[in-house]
Amino acid sequence: MDIAFVGLTVDFMIAISRATDLTMPCLRLPARLRSHCRDLAALAALAVLSACAVNPATGRREFSLVSEGQEIAMGQEGAKEVEASIGLYPDSALQAYVARVGMSMASKSERPTLPWKFGVVEDAAINAFALPGGPIYFTRGILTHMNSEAEMASVMGHEIGHVTARHSAQQMSRAQVAQIGLGVGSILSNEIASVAGAASTGLGLLLLKYGRDAESQADDLGFRYMMTDGYDPRAMRDMFIMLGRVSGEGGRLPTWLSSHPDPGDRLARTDERLAALTRDLSAAVVGRQAFLRQIDGVVFGENPRSGYFAGQEFLHPDLKFRLTFPAGWKSHNGTDAVTSISAAEDAIVELRLAAGADPAAALRAFAAQEGVASNQPETTTINGLPAVTAEWQAQSQGGMLRGRVAFIGYDGRTYRILGYTALANYGAHRQAIMATQGSFARVTEAAVLNRQPNRLRIVTLPRAMTLRQFHAAYPSVIPIEQVALINAVDLDTRLEQGRQVKRVVGG
Ligand SMILES: [Zn+2]
Repeated sequence: MDIAFVGLTVDFMIAISRATDLTMPCLRLPARLRSHCRDLAALAALAVLSACAVNPATGRREFSLVSEGQEIAMGQEGAKEVEASIGLYPDSALQAYVARVGMSMASKSERPTLPWKFGVVEDAAINAFALPGGPIYFTRGILTHMNSEAEMASVMGHEIGHVTARHSAQQMSRAQVAQIGLGVGSILSNEIASVAGAASTGLGLLLLKYGRDAESQADDLGFRYMMTDGYDPRAMRDMFIMLGRVSGEGGRLPTWLSSHPDPGDRLARTDERLAALTRDLSAAVVGRQAFLRQIDGVVFGENPRSGYFAGQEFLHPDLKFRLTFPAGWKSHNGTDAVTSISAAEDAIVELRLAAGADPAAALRAFAAQEGVASNQPETTTINGLPAVTAEWQAQSQGGMLRGRVAFIGYDGRTYRILGYTALANYGAHRQAIMATQGSFARVTEAAVLNRQPNRLRIVTLPRAMTLRQFHAAYPSVIPIEQVALINAVDLDTRLEQGRQVKRVVGG
């Protein structure tokens, strides 16, 4: 949960979790969309047959309901939402460096005049994504896992490929058709609708998954773009090895990976591309030192300033509050909300900021939503803080929901803690929801308030040593296996004198 809250209601993770395949042949709609056509006279009015356009990157004619102007407008709108909700990583030199590499590559692509824009977002996940018509973002998490500018260029090329081949625009065309067909226009607020499984508008549409064919095509294009800009394409190999190691660890599975073909398959395909090359790569740019210099000092892992968990307790140093989620529930600290789901995944509690500074007014706005029937609100205090609570019921696409909401005023902000489940399960979860709402309290301990993030540090080796010896001489706050992973070496790899090696130090 970030302090820079803008009321974005679509969760990025949920929104991109619905995959569909791509490369729709011109003039032939897949069965799924055809059935929607039959259902809806409105769709017949859409000039589907004339909606084919030539793909700039591939030269193929493709189905598209989105003009280039619309594509650009949607991407610009999405970029605003990304930057306001996820937030840019506050390091102007790093931002400028990524933009310089991106702009150089994009200007040599098939769509050099698009309003290209490159940024690093404040996110520990290993991810990179492109929005329609130009905006491309890297997370700081993926940068800390790279070891050269050429590796960054391989991911940059892939994302530029999504834009030049109009993958987002195509996905959007399909999503628009699907959305008209499904009649999405929920009576519920977006957050309930998204949990209930309905598609939503806004950021969700912009961050749709592409299909595997699109991903392979983006890899092909990325390989070509990085070579055009003089980079050593063997770095693409290194990226897939790194991604394979990350996913093999079973830790956090990046969404970027889950929506993409298996890194092993992509590695094999990259080897085929490399084997087919005839050009001499001895002068190709790797840019290891230049890259490592740029990421020295970057925040590594989750930033506790945006909130962190200690068991079931969630603590937020910047906003100075704590909250305890029910035992056995699984919690997640998202960009705009902290959510917790029961073990049986049949109930949810989420904390987010509400508009304004008046809890009573916030509850009135909540209860006034169409489809929400609320009981008489109760004015109370929670650990000395002014609060208003109410039980409510609402019809969702999946059935009747019942829940309890608490609005709490603290430090000039209004916090909303919303818990709900299916009507039939409410009795079983009511106590847990109420206990979570009742646990909201101010934090005063210096140990929490002063907590700082871990950071990446680059060490130049004074003598040759193995990674094991490096870890003993220059300890990190992360396990040695992870140190090996971010350096793309094994524990017993001998590292030569003068080599730059990453470690992670505590705040
Ligand atoms: Zn991709």
